[in-house]
This record gives sequence, structure tokens and C-alpha cells, in this order.
Amino acid sequence: MAEKILITGGAGFIGSNLTDELIKSHQVIIVDNLSTGQRKNLNSQAKFYQIDIRDPKISKIFEKEKPKIVFHLAAQINVRKSVENPIRDAEINILGSLNLLENCKKFGIKKIIFTSTGGAIYGESNIIPTPETYSAWPLSPYGIAKFAIEKYLNYYYKSFGLSYIALRLANVYGPRQNAEGEAGVVAIFCNRILKEQRPTIFGDGKQTRDFIFVEDVVEAAILALNKDKIGIFNVGMGRETSINEIFQKLRQLTGKEIEAVYAPAKKGDVRRSCLNYFEIKNEFGWEPKHTLEQGLTKTLESIIKKSLRKH
Ligand code: NAD
Repeated sequence: MAEKILITGGAGFIGSNLTDELIKSHQVIIVDNLSTGQRKNLNSQAKFYQIDIRDPKISKIFEKEKPKIVFHLAAQINVRKSVENPIRDAEINILGSLNLLENCKKFGIKKIIFTSTGGAIYGESNIIPTPETYSAWPLSPYGIAKFAIEKYLNYYYKSFGLSYIALRLANVYGPRQNAEGEAGVVAIFCNRILKEQRPTIFGDGKQTRDFIFVEDVVEAAILALNKDKIGIFNVGMGRETSINEIFQKLRQLTGKEIEAVYAPAKKGDVRRSCLNYFEIKNEFGWEPKHTLEQGLTKTLESIIKKSLRKH
């Protein structure tokens, strides 16, 4: 039997998509406090514990279940909330992660795979697409916390032999997407356009992001599990897409003749973000398989299917 995996954040967007793949070949234990995750996302074949990653009682789960691998996705995911309340962000994203790392050390976990951020770690980069070697100067407490955990991962590896991979994810979109996350704009636009409501674009809409489809991210995470490597890898398309382009693509795909509303830019948003994925391609043979059109089509289809089920 394949090794037992504990996944934090398994009721969330990326975590539930990942669980659905992992469950095909592994026993999966999910830890989630359902703060942004949803019970209906939970895979029925996975064992679920509703608990906060900050809770000391999490050690009882490690003791009982004896997982060998940890995927750590649970997080306060909202960059703007981290700016409003950096202490709360650090409590969850730094102290909660440390609580997990201490348990990984105590219970002899072989490897931890962590979802870091590629969109919020480099700050305003002048190398596009940005490689992992570009110095990280995050502009938000969220990005700082992710960067801190990458450093802690290296510390636990060097001091206690805990293997790790940190995946610096670009802006992830797809089915079950949470509108609060780094690519929340796709979920918000899809929902509004399908309801024939005008979406709001902040700023001139020319700011760019690297939008990556969730199935491609899941594939990268599974390769990270199976390859014998340590380190930090960007996971993105290596392609810049402006917010205006996303809106136009969704208009075309849905055939809805809707105009956007423009509002003042949000303070602190970076102008350009795009990741160089050469390193993960080189080491794991990973490449994104979905074009933006294919990913957006699958996302729209899943939203339409869900709304039909409701009616
Ligand atoms: P999500 O909100 O859908 O998933 C996060 C999950 O963690 C939720 O199920 C939530 O209930 C759970 N959670 C939050 N705080 C918790 C706590 N204190 N204890 C236990 N569970 C808790 O978000 P997502 O988009 O699936 O993000 C998953 C991970 O990927 C996060 O670490 C996020 O920072 C990272 N990430 C996401 C993106 C993106 O574009 N979505 C980009 C880069 C990195």
C-alpha cells in the first residue's frame, strides 16, 4: 500500500482537487478548519478531521494516523486581509505552519510539500518571467509569511533531515475556486458574467498575472511527491495575461456582451507578475498542459454544472 498522506486545507480549492487525484493511489487524511473550505469539497474516501492547524491537539492526529507525507495547503489566503491584519495572518500562516513542522519533526515525516506563492513573493520584479533566483521582497504580510516558511523548511531539512518541496504557485484558477485567493478575479468574473452582471476592474486593467489552471498545479504537486528532490520551484505558465484580457476571453467564451466597470486601482497590487518555470521543467519534466482558453472553458463548465444542480 502506498504511503499515508496528510493534507492540510483539503476542503479548499486546490487541496480538494489534489485530494481527488491522490486518493486514487494513497490513503489520505484531511485536516481543515472549514474557515474558507467547504464540506461539500471533501472527498468521501478521505478521512477528515475538522481542526485548526494552530491547535496543539493536531499532534494526536499525527500519533494516531502515522502519515509519512504532509501536503501543507491550509492558510489564510487573502493578501488584502493580511495587509489589514498582519498579526492574524502570521498566527495562521507562520505559527500554524510551525505547529505542523514541529509535528513533522516529532513524528518522523519523510517529506513535506508546501504551497508557497509565486505571485506575492517577488514584489515588483524587473525580470519577467521571474526565476526562483530573483531576490524575494514580498510586498504583503501574506508573501512575507510564505517566504518565512520556505526558510523554516530549509531549517528543518538541514537540522532534522525533513525533506521538503515548496511550490511557488502563480495565480491558480479552476473548478471550486475561492474568490478570495490570488486568482480570485477569475472566479468573480465568471460568476458575474454568467449572471449577466458587470464585473469591476480595478485600475486600468493592464496589470498582468500568470494564470495557471488547477489541474496543472495538481500534476506539479504529485510530481513533487514522487521525485527525490529538495527545494523551491515556480509553478506557472510563464505567460502574462492582463485583467482586461481575462475579461475579454470570458466574454468571448460565454458570448455575453457585457461591459466592465472600472474603479480606482487597489493600493499595493503589483503591476506585473509572471513566473519562469524552467527549473521544474528541468527537474521534474513538468509543463502546463492547459492553455488559458482550455482552463477557462473547464472552469465555466463547472460553474454552469453546479448552478444547474442547484435548480
Ligand atoms: P482555499 O481557501 O480554498 O483553501 C485553504 C484551505 O485551508 C481551506 O479549506 C480552509 O478552510 C483551510 N484553512 C484555512 N485556515 C486554516 C487553519 N487555520 N486551520 C486549518 N485549515 C485552515 O485556498 P486555495 O486557493 O486552495 O489555497 C491553497 C494554498 O495554496 C494556500 O496555502 C494558498 O496560500 C496557496 N496558494 C494559492 C494560490 C491561488 O491562486 N489560489 C496561489 C499561490 C498559493
